[in-house]
Amino acid sequence: MPTVFAHLRRPRWRSLILLALVLAPLLWPVQQLAQRYYLAKLVEQNHQTLDLYVANLLGSLRRYEVLPPILGDLPALRQALATPKDPQVIAAANRLLEQVSQQTGAQVVYLMDADGNSLAASNWQQDDSFVNRNFAFRPYFREAIAGQLGRFFGLGTTSGKRGYYFAAAMRDAGRNLGVLVIKVDFDHIETLWGNTPEQLLVTDAQGVVILTSNSQWRFTASRPLDKVERMAIMANLPYPTQAPPPLRLKNEEWLRQDRQLLETGWTVSILSPRSLLDRPVRTAMVAAGGLLLLLLLALGLLMQRQRHYLERIALDSRARQELEQRVLERTEDLERLNSRLKDEVLEREQAQQELLCAQDELVQASKLSALGTMSASISHELNQPLAAIRSYADNAGVLLDHQRIEDARGNLKLISQLTQRMASITAHLRAFARRDRHAPESVALQPALDDALALLAKRRRSLEVELIRDLPEATLWVQAGETRLRQVLGNLLANALDALSEVAPPRRLWLSSTLSDYGVELQLRDNGPGFSAQALQRAREPFFTTKTSAQGLGLGLAICDTLMRSLGGELVLSNHPSGGAVLTLRLRAVEQGIKPQSAEDFVV
Ligand code: ADP
Repeated sequence: MPTVFAHLRRPRWRSLILLALVLAPLLWPVQQLAQRYYLAKLVEQNHQTLDLYVANLLGSLRRYEVLPPILGDLPALRQALATPKDPQVIAAANRLLEQVSQQTGAQVVYLMDADGNSLAASNWQQDDSFVNRNFAFRPYFREAIAGQLGRFFGLGTTSGKRGYYFAAAMRDAGRNLGVLVIKVDFDHIETLWGNTPEQLLVTDAQGVVILTSNSQWRFTASRPLDKVERMAIMANLPYPTQAPPPLRLKNEEWLRQDRQLLETGWTVSILSPRSLLDRPVRTAMVAAGGLLLLLLLALGLLMQRQRHYLERIALDSRARQELEQRVLERTEDLERLNSRLKDEVLEREQAQQELLCAQDELVQASKLSALGTMSASISHELNQPLAAIRSYADNAGVLLDHQRIEDARGNLKLISQLTQRMASITAHLRAFARRDRHAPESVALQPALDDALALLAKRRRSLEVELIRDLPEATLWVQAGETRLRQVLGNLLANALDALSEVAPPRRLWLSSTLSDYGVELQLRDNGPGFSAQALQRAREPFFTTKTSAQGLGLGLAICDTLMRSLGGELVLSNHPSGGAVLTLRLRAVEQGIKPQSAEDFVV
């Protein structure tokens, strides 16, 4: 893998975890913010709850605080103060107070004389009735006598029940006649709070809890009590105990809000467990964490996509590079091929040049060869008539010696004919070399054959060759040239005699002819050794011979074949099944015609 792509292969998730570790501290301010937010919300909520509660408390108190002065003016009660010994008056007062208690909801309403003796009470019928008791020791009595509205929180000495006392003096011309007291029950206020995690508590001026939603905290001291306070407690007995135990609250566990009630000297507090904040903060943290995680995931995906994109770009560019490289290599290959082609073309041109030169040389060589062939042919063809001339001349000499003038003349005439024939042969050879074409002519076959036989008669006789003729009486007219036909026949007969000379007698030579579709077929058969296999194939080639150089030149059959083809005929070589060679001349048959004087016969 090239180093370019190495960075793309690094595990992405490791960097994401690192990123998460870096981002994790971000959750701390989130937590702080959430805590502050929910704290503010809780404080606000508590504030409202506290307001409500305080309003409720104050409402309850104010409802009752106005009652003692009003009730103090009731004539029945004043009558009771005036005639405390009159049981009827006291009974009427009792009933009145009971009625008031029922109507106002006050726990107890009672009437005291100026010395603190209770004359009548709303609970006059109950066992723990307040009637005929003395409450002069109670601070509210003292305050009322002093001309103030007496206020006091404490347990009833008789009932043992908590309550808030309002007391007002009943006066007449500046003289205290008595005191009317209303005791209000606050138990129901505690029950109003219900079962909420927030706790409410009301502490009095000494800091002792007098009302609370948590019963364990009731009558505990929220702060250390000084000596005067402890003395006052011992004197007034507001609580079930004279030494209230300390209220043990862990400040870090609670969120506390206070409100002072000036008219009572109380402090109303609301306490919320700080654990209330935990859940929403935790939820906020989880949400923030989730959001962060989502952001990280999105970031991861984005990075992955970017990585894929980069990878694709890298792949594309690599593919492009490879393509360019391939194109480059291909171009180089093509250039190499091109230059090789150029070289080859040059070589071809050179070879062609050389070929042309070789052809020129070949033409020259073939000309020389043709020259050689022709000269060899000429000497071969002329040797036979020369030999005949020599023999006729010798005979003529002998005949003259014997005074046989006529016979000698005959021989000389024959010599003259032969020279004429030799001239014809040379002319023919020249024509053969030039491939001259002669107009077809009709030639009588049998006379031409007789002429050829006559030329070789002496040799045939010396070899004792039996001639078997199977030719029709009627003249066979063939398309040929007179001289050329005789030349062919002479050659073939000479070859037959040569072949027969190689075998012992009886030596036979068959001459026969047949008429075929083609024309006339003349067959010359001997009972010599026949053609060897090689001779059958090559006998027509110039200079092919199986004879010694003195006997043969290998031109006879070559000339015959050429002449036959120039005559429009054919020469076929074969062996007879019973031995010996068979040479067939195929000639075109023509209509009987007057034998014209052949032009070639006069050529010199
Ligand atoms: P040459 O007679 O000078 O050899 P030719 O062309 O006439 O040349 O003959 C070629 C060869 O064909 C001869 O050498 C001989 O082997 C063969 N041949 C020709 N005629 C005959 C024949 N009648 N019988 C057997 N062989 C023959």
